[in-house]
Amino acid sequence: MDRKTYLIKIIKEFDDWYQNDPHNQNKDFYKKIITRDNIESLNDNELLDFFYEFINDGGRVQSGGYRTKNIFKKEIGKNLSAFRKYVVEPFYNHFNLNVWIQRLDAFTGSGIGIATIYLNRIDCNKYPIMNNKTLKALAKLGYQISGTKNLTNYLKVKKIQNQLIAEFPLIENLYKADALNHFIVAVYKGQVLISDYLQIESFQDGLEQNEIDYNTRSSDISSNPNELYLRIKECEKEESERVTIKGKTYKRYNYLMVQIKRYRKFKCQFCNTTILKENGTYYIEACHIKAKAEGKKDQLNNILVLCPNCHKLFDYAKRENEIYLGDIFSVILNGKTYKASLK
Ligand SMILES: [Zn+2]
Repeated sequence: MDRKTYLIKIIKEFDDWYQNDPHNQNKDFYKKIITRDNIESLNDNELLDFFYEFINDGGRVQSGGYRTKNIFKKEIGKNLSAFRKYVVEPFYNHFNLNVWIQRLDAFTGSGIGIATIYLNRIDCNKYPIMNNKTLKALAKLGYQISGTKNLTNYLKVKKIQNQLIAEFPLIENLYKADALNHFIVAVYKGQVLISDYLQIESFQDGLEQNEIDYNTRSSDISSNPNELYLRIKECEKEESERVTIKGKTYKRYNYLMVQIKRYRKFKCQFCNTTILKENGTYYIEACHIKAKAEGKKDQLNNILVLCPNCHKLFDYAKRENEIYLGDIFSVILNGKTYKASLK
């Protein structure tokens, strides 16, 4: 099953789940409440109370802002007329989304999560929701997006979600797209499906790495660590995403992983295992310490070369105390300490 087919499967499973989820039942909850006429007609106390409740309920989308709601009432109460202007702006034709998001800081207590829920409640075909869950889910789906909740990422989220809706009409709109993110990150069934989806990707990368290793073995192989090191450093700096070897193009990432595996002698950095294959080559896996989603690049000091067992342990075990001591990376997995050199 390729990625696209598997993604269709995930979205179908999501749609089944969605039918009986509160997300679906709450989809029109604010339809008659969050309108220009209604918001403009509220007096000061009603306005304050409404947004206080809205934050408290997390806009009926995310868990409530129990801690922020009290700060909100105190801060917004000081400058209610400016707040009133701010919350009706999205209803007007001259509304400038970029400027609006950048002015969010002026309203302590209403973070970008709840603010984008408010926008989404105004128009679920125009404005996506962005909170930690959104960024996590999109990174899991393979999009390069960091975990920072800022305007740049909000515009990225908007673009990605619209692409997804165009490709998979079952997602329907940006409100349901948010429920999909929730399904992927916080629902057991979704978590299992997405973790299989990620396995497909890493399996395909592994196949490509074997092919690169095989195709460069006779002509290109160098066991000289200094030479390999220089090659890795050169490859890290390379801007293009693809490399061409013997007329065939591969992901640059996979070429780099092959060089790193050779540099580390195809040996597991946690348990020293090597797996010799019948054809005389070695099997080993490469894994990221910090995911790309956290803004980390593909480079030697973020890659561990691990046997399949240690790789899964690293991915799935309870992970604590990740520390860098010079070139040594140290981590506690299910209570046991593991160390590896990142040089
Ligand atoms: Zn191992």
